[in-house]
Amino acid sequence: MVKVMIFIDGSWLYANQHILSKRFGDNYRLDYGKLPQVLGEIIAENLGGMPVDVVRTCLFGSNAINYDIDDEQLVQNRRDFYDLLREEYHYEVEVFHVNYRGKRLKRSDRDPEDDFHPQEKCVDIALSTAMLYYAAIPNAYDIAVSVIGDRDFIPTLQHVRKIGKRVAVAGIKESCASEYADYKDPKRLKDFDIIWLGDLLDKLELKISKRRLECQSPLHIGSRFVYTDEFIRKGRRYYCHECKEKYRVQRLEQRDFIQPPMAEYSFEPDSPTSYGEIKKLLVRRLEDGSENKYGFIRNERGDYYFHSMDLMDDVDFEFLREGDPVMFDVAIQPNPGSRDKPNGKGVNVKLMDRREQPVPASPPVQSSAPVSSSQPFSPQSYQL
Ligand SMILES: [Zn+2]
Repeated sequence: MVKVMIFIDGSWLYANQHILSKRFGDNYRLDYGKLPQVLGEIIAENLGGMPVDVVRTCLFGSNAINYDIDDEQLVQNRRDFYDLLREEYHYEVEVFHVNYRGKRLKRSDRDPEDDFHPQEKCVDIALSTAMLYYAAIPNAYDIAVSVIGDRDFIPTLQHVRKIGKRVAVAGIKESCASEYADYKDPKRLKDFDIIWLGDLLDKLELKISKRRLECQSPLHIGSRFVYTDEFIRKGRRYYCHECKEKYRVQRLEQRDFIQPPMAEYSFEPDSPTSYGEIKKLLVRRLEDGSENKYGFIRNERGDYYFHSMDLMDDVDFEFLREGDPVMFDVAIQPNPGSRDKPNGKGVNVKLMDRREQPVPASPPVQSSAPVSSSQPFSPQSYQL
């Protein structure tokens, strides 16, 4: 049995998916579940029908952190995509962060004067390292199938072949380094003709027949049963299109509360000390399992964003509660008149004595907002 391992440049594939879809119309969806099997079959054909075992599929990708909250849905879609690959198809997925410094994801949505260029780090190197690492482990694989388009992988493919492993390249014609497509292969990169994903679209189409599902959203109006061909992940609730849209609008209305951290604050040196109370506490889970903890302080001038790292040493984020009186230094004054940056920035946040506050006469009313400290914000739990 010939062992095949597949290495996918996920950022490249995700960015070029529209090229594939274009040929089939906008409704075309690539079935990532079938991709390893289809590639395995092509290798088997090339080997004269020898049995092939696809032992692992590794995908390397990236996702935004520190982005403008208006792009939350785009980032969530990408998170869902990676989760789907892991949970549904058992891919090995490695995701790296791209810091957007509080800016919009698409260039067209950013200020034309802004020369910010997001830097994707590590994805190519991670793929190359994995391919070489497994090549060096005896019997891990015989053939590496790399799903790539970028020229940067040339030295990796050459060295994997020098170890004695066979290499195949699968690409997209419209987005492929000429060296991979060259059938004469002067750089000695591969042991098979290039595999064009565009030729496999029939086999790779995601086909889901319409079925009757029950919408689980509390926002749903009317009969909950909906006919849909949407893909629903294992163990997830189904929410219909209408409810998803309602939820999106609700979130936009609360955008001022959940404006994510801006990375670049210029600190005003003689920042005045100010007083306020904790208005919101938020915990956002990142792909790598780590948590981004931040919140907002409110006073008569507006809201101030603060990160858990802006707390004074003796203040623990977990110990904070909404309504707590705090003292802080103003790094940026809030500008409630600005839609883009309504919030200021507070640093050196210090908790004042709660006992100084008058005791409320009645128990505090539970906030109806979908994000609060008692319900830490997690994209998963609020996903509709
Ligand atoms: Zn619904």
